[in-house]
Amino acid sequence: MAHASLDKRPSARKPESTGRPRAAVLLPLPFPGPFDYAVPPTLADLQPGDIVSVPLGRRTETGVVWDQAPTLPPEFMPPPMKPVSDGRLKPVIARLDQPPLPAALRRFVDWVAAYTLSPPGLVLAMALRTATTAPTAPATCWAIATPPTDLRDTPARRRVLDIASSDGPLPAAELARRAGVRTGVVRGLADAGALRAVVLRPPPPFAAPDPTYCPPTLGDGQGEAARSLRTLAGAGGFSVTLLEGVTGSGKTEIYLEAIAACLERGRQVLVLLPEIALSAQWTGRFARRFGTEPALWHSDLGPRLRRVTWHAVAEGSARVVVGARSALFLPFAELGLIIVDEEHESAFKQEDGVTYHARDMAVVRARLDHAPIILVSATPSLETLANVGAGRYRHLALTARHGGAAMPDVRTIDMRAHPPERGLFLSPVLTEAIQATMARGEQAMLFLNRRGYAPLTLCRTCGHRLQCPNCTAWLVEHRARRVITCHHCGYQEPTPPTCPSCHAEASLTPIGPGVERITEEARATFPDARLLVMASDTLPGPAATADAVARIARREVDLVIGTQIVAKGWHFPHLTLVGVVDADLGLGGGDLRAAERTVQLLHQVAGRAGRAEAPGTVLLQSYCAEHPVMQALVSGDFASFMHQEAEQRRPGFWPPFGRLAALIVSADTPEAADATARALGATAPRGDGMQVLGPAPAPLAILRGRHRRRLLLRARREIALQPIVRQWLERVTPERGARIDVDIDPVSFL
Ligand code: ADP
Ligand code: ZN
Repeated sequence: MAHASLDKRPSARKPESTGRPRAAVLLPLPFPGPFDYAVPPTLADLQPGDIVSVPLGRRTETGVVWDQAPTLPPEFMPPPMKPVSDGRLKPVIARLDQPPLPAALRRFVDWVAAYTLSPPGLVLAMALRTATTAPTAPATCWAIATPPTDLRDTPARRRVLDIASSDGPLPAAELARRAGVRTGVVRGLADAGALRAVVLRPPPPFAAPDPTYCPPTLGDGQGEAARSLRTLAGAGGFSVTLLEGVTGSGKTEIYLEAIAACLERGRQVLVLLPEIALSAQWTGRFARRFGTEPALWHSDLGPRLRRVTWHAVAEGSARVVVGARSALFLPFAELGLIIVDEEHESAFKQEDGVTYHARDMAVVRARLDHAPIILVSATPSLETLANVGAGRYRHLALTARHGGAAMPDVRTIDMRAHPPERGLFLSPVLTEAIQATMARGEQAMLFLNRRGYAPLTLCRTCGHRLQCPNCTAWLVEHRARRVITCHHCGYQEPTPPTCPSCHAEASLTPIGPGVERITEEARATFPDARLLVMASDTLPGPAATADAVARIARREVDLVIGTQIVAKGWHFPHLTLVGVVDADLGLGGGDLRAAERTVQLLHQVAGRAGRAEAPGTVLLQSYCAEHPVMQALVSGDFASFMHQEAEQRRPGFWPPFGRLAALIVSADTPEAADATARALGATAPRGDGMQVLGPAPAPLAILRGRHRRRLLLRARREIALQPIVRQWLERVTPERGARIDVDIDPVSFL
């Protein structure tokens, strides 16, 4: 990871005034920093972290009282805003009845903002999104008080007091009902001082997981790793550990033990998964180990559950949260352990709004909370391996599958030697293997990381290609829905009956396969097989995904056809054959991590095969079977492959051996994009150990109608990029209609 350089000693900000008491309040809006407000005498005890409402222009906004002394060195902070004189200071309106934002989370917000060069308010917005309203109004209940000596005594009053002292505190209506009186009687007793009000919060919505509920019997090689992690999680304190092990080796089983140790210590746990579709199987497994489900956090959570969960995390009643990357910004009261499962996944990189890498920021969060963090993967990223190599991260490895299950036998099918029939995409070698698998009563899977019917539609008469009107991208046919759509901007139109350019009839031809087309081929080839398609557009949510997975586990399916959603950590005990339709798919495009990512993805797909007793086979259809990626998958020797990857990136100071920042210019017109990009090029930072590549048109030169240009700043590891980029941006004023987005540690180069 690349952030050590943000950690110099902070210098205190000078107080701006010595007059009226003031508070810095950060608003969840894109301002460069907090605003000062006057603290009225009624709020004299206002503390950093308090959630307050303040005036902003004519509106009222919710914000957070921020720390006066910045937590980062000045070169990482936005230029200070002009102080407002006492006389013009507006007062804080009120403190909201909300748990305050913990100090570690406030520091984390500052840190992420400084590292990603985002306005801190936009980072705060991620932490605050749901905090502004109380979960459920606390109920007022009535309990017995010392009755005044002159209390008028009646049988009705006596019954109420009896019930209140035996069953109380109760809400007024309930108290009256049980005593068989009107609520007026209760009110009268309250007014007389014989009952006192007690505000009861609703019971915590999440039951506490029991670390002793159902511990596993650990196998050879698992016990040592589990003990090691238990010790780390039980002791607390910051550390980073890579837990590496082939698919099915029991990594999940083992990190659940670390969770148990953290729970025993009375701390909360955060588990990050790359995709929430995975959470169904995960929570089930968690429940079998701990006797109750964990709290879930992701963007599809309904507003009520979001609110309840946010508050439960803040109050500490939610002990374990499993979520997507946004869960990093939850207000944990006492975070004691973070786990990042499938740490190599690029889904951890958020690409819009605040662009941050959740795996890297999770390490920062762990450090700020003085908690251990465990990164889990069968195919760790080169970033993480480099940190292990440099001694910054610990390393635990599991080498065998649990219970003696063998690793699948991975082979390539050389498509030049065994081509499919004309117009088809499955080699006879693969179809025969599928047939044989199904004949044995076992399940098979076809993997193709491409949604829809065909990625390109071409007119055979005039050569016209169906292209998105808003993007530099082909339109993808989705035959089942009879539409062609853009996978970048969501544009869609009915599939045209004739060529839109030359109007030739029956001339539009699909080029290449998507899962729909493979499904069509599989239906024709295996007419008796029970097929199931798993793609993100055919499975509308976690529930549908869980249902599909359950059907596979119940053996209601013979052949699964899917996109990357099937590659995830599913456990399919009866699946013994995986066919990869196009193993070369991810290798094009010249992306820095194309080879690494292909190995990771395909290894993960391969890992779905043979997870129980029956051994698994993986067949990779490839036109370049001699490629190092295919060789690594066949041999299973990822260490050597990653070593070669490292040796290719090291000399040019490519990540993780150097730092990258991407500047993306986008504009209404190509002229504005070019002018802004040229201005960035002309003012590019120069110096030893750094280099600016570009400007150049982005591969997606037009996206959602915006014209895009890219520049890339590459620097040696010891150089901090943020101050350089900040100063660079200050030298350039974007043209009208143009903007510049910064992506630190870019993962996508589109
Ligand atoms: P990974 O996360 O490395 O892919 P898992 O933890 O999912 O591996 O384990 C693979 C399978 O083996 C799961 O079904 C899991 O329940 C089972 N398993 C692993 N270790 C044990 C164990 N010690 N006892 C019982 N089952 C285990
Ligand atoms: Zn588009």
